[in-house]
Amino acid sequence: MIYQRSSALFAEAKKYIPGGVNSPVRAFGAVGGDPIFVKSAKGAYLYDEDGRQLIDYIASWGPMILGHAYGPVVNAVVEKAKKGTSFGMPTEIETELARLAVGMVPNIDRIRFVNSGTEACMSAVRLARGYSGKDKIIKFAGCYHGHSDSFLIQAGSGAVTFGSPNSPGVTQGTAKDTLLADYNDLEGVKKLTAANKGEIAAIIIEPVAGNMGCIVPEKLFIEGLRQLCTEENILLIFDEVMTGFRLARGGAQEALGVKADMVTFGKVIGGGLPVGAFAANAEIMAHLAPEGPVYQAGTLSGNPLAMSAGLAMLTELNERPEIFDRLEKKTAHLENGLDRVLAKKGIPYQINRFGSMLSVHFTDVPVVDFASSAKGNNDTFKRYFHGMLEQGIYLPPSAFESYFLNDALSYDDLDRTIAALDALSL
Ligand SMILES: *Cc1c(COP(=O)(O)O)cnc(C)c1O
Repeated sequence: MIYQRSSALFAEAKKYIPGGVNSPVRAFGAVGGDPIFVKSAKGAYLYDEDGRQLIDYIASWGPMILGHAYGPVVNAVVEKAKKGTSFGMPTEIETELARLAVGMVPNIDRIRFVNSGTEACMSAVRLARGYSGKDKIIKFAGCYHGHSDSFLIQAGSGAVTFGSPNSPGVTQGTAKDTLLADYNDLEGVKKLTAANKGEIAAIIIEPVAGNMGCIVPEKLFIEGLRQLCTEENILLIFDEVMTGFRLARGGAQEALGVKADMVTFGKVIGGGLPVGAFAANAEIMAHLAPEGPVYQAGTLSGNPLAMSAGLAMLTELNERPEIFDRLEKKTAHLENGLDRVLAKKGIPYQINRFGSMLSVHFTDVPVVDFASSAKGNNDTFKRYFHGMLEQGIYLPPSAFESYFLNDALSYDDLDRTIAALDALSL
């Protein structure tokens, strides 16, 4: 058994941690078998507890866009830690990261740091409600905005793989204020806004979806949403927890050329430490405490270690924008290779990609929304996932997750990955 130590560690973890993991998607529920325990990571590679090297395609679900244990980020954290790890008082580095982020991202003047993407989205919606005086929000089936109550309605990602999409513990009262639309279906959104005229505070969307595989928004859909929100006085929230500082320096707003009213961040903005953030123009953000009445707080928010990791990461991305082009080219190379090899196998498949996000779906229908994503053949996916893992390739352990490429991946790594798929019988 090649994963002996991982399996033993998992058995021990299950005695003390529900399901043996601290976030459900890690548990391999969608693909079967025991999860791999990581000992360390460097660049494009994970080193597992059984002494194997794996080529990593999840990058901690996005943050490690420059590869693992990236020198400038590690040094920044280590140096900062020597000076104290938390004060509960303001520090200059919070302003430095805020200034940098506001400079990189279009259409935002102020940014508030929190500790996770969940907190960012939860707080953004509270602010949208407090600002607009309206209660309802629209979200899209299969989009994930973290695990706060309002969002666990057809939530994509681990919520689809493991729990019920509408989680027990979420009250009817909360659920009734979350209206559900289908991704890429502008007409559906128009019907919802017409039926709830004047009651909708915000529409929240993953501008490129990554929690039902990678799903690209149709141009008319995303531009139509923008126009509809402007006409109906609804705030458009781009959940850029995945796409922010990944698809371009300015995230999906820049990559798609569409303006959001509010933006949420997580993942890359923390450089691998727990950071989330939400941002908007000065007028909207002025409603947030202590400037305004909408309450939001956090003991460890703006934590110096987290800020130093984020600052080192965003500084690299800001000063070397060629990273985004390079990642785009690498991901296109992988996409073309996977496509070439899968075409020979005589099974239905789709490959979706935007920038450095990509997903493979074993279905013959184009994957444009949650319903089409759910049509993928999961038996084939399991064989694919485990077959690649045996050859040292770590893919997301669910068809509802996107790959996140990192800049440390070499063309040799990508070609090894393509060759591994070529060697598989699915
Ligand atoms: C990961 C993710 C979140 C939640 O972020 P956490 O840091 O896991 O709480 C929210 N929205 C999107 C789009 C995500 O991918």
